[in-house]
Amino acid sequence: MNGWERAEAVRLVIVTAAGGRCECRDRECGKVHGRKTGDGRCPVTDSVVAPLHTVPAVTGLDEHKAVRLAAEAMIAVCDACHGGRLAAERKQAAAAWEPP
Ligand SMILES: [Zn+2]
Ligand SMILES: [Zn+2]
Repeated sequence: MNGWERAEAVRLVIVTAAGGRCECRDRECGKVHGRKTGDGRCPVTDSVVAPLHTVPAVTGLDEHKAVRLAAEAMIAVCDACHGGRLAAERKQAAAAWEPP
């Protein structure tokens, strides 16, 4: 197994646990989910053309900690939510920043 195969195997475990669907909830990415799905989750599913990303369930972790997280600490999110979550995180960080 090379690195990519390992990463893909881990991704599949996380995506399968997510039921093959984006796990972004409510407004985590800045969009309101759940109006159509009724369970507060984004309706986008995993596909070959647009595979779901796996990200830490907790936002704001530094990359070095994030890569060592167990599969249980990761969630699957779609492309749009991934981008939205990153932007929301940056906004939060900017808001929390205080001049020294
Ligand atoms: Zn999504
Ligand atoms: Zn979302």
